[in-house]
Amino acid sequence: MMDYHAHSPGACGGYLCAVRRDDWDRVAATQGMIPCFGVHPWYAEQEPVAQIAYDLDEYLSRYPQAQVGETGLDATPGHCGTYDAQELLLQVHLGAAFRHERLVHLHGAGAWSKLLELLQQRARNNTLPRILLHAWNGSHELARAFLSLGAVFSVGVRELTHSKAADRYARIPADKLFAESDDDPESFPRAVELLALLRGDIRAH
Ligand SMILES: [Zn+2]
Repeated sequence: MMDYHAHSPGACGGYLCAVRRDDWDRVAATQGMIPCFGVHPWYAEQEPVAQIAYDLDEYLSRYPQAQVGETGLDATPGHCGTYDAQELLLQVHLGAAFRHERLVHLHGAGAWSKLLELLQQRARNNTLPRILLHAWNGSHELARAFLSLGAVFSVGVRELTHSKAADRYARIPADKLFAESDDDPESFPRAVELLALLRGDIRAH
């Protein structure tokens, strides 16, 4: 199983997501991983949005195997102050992903409902790209709303060891929920194992 959301290359391969514009060339040059170009919502106010839009278009044209991310919204206490800038930058990423028919890796800490609203709006306008919600920790009810938009999810050890893990993840179809390492490449094998245990689809030997 490949890593569905990573910031460092790992032995299993997978999606390697940029965090800042400065990461893109390194991400593009990394062997054995699928490059993803984006700017994390934490840095939304520090990057020139128009330039990101032009550069994204150029990089996605140049790298046909590349996807989009990381992008999204963060409404947790330390980051909610830049919400307007985050939303603008997110729309630029969603537009690029739609135009180039790529998957977009979404961060939504504390902002899943807002994100859902915004994606539903794009779905109504027929401009919604394929979406992956990373570090998914919303309710099953919210998951169903995102599933109806065609979303897939990825989770890591942090999410899978939460007291609500079974409630959140056990009912999401296996082909819609994947393991991720995010910032901790060493954690990937454990995330794969925890996900399999939660689903009850592995035998002990
Ligand atoms: Zn990430």
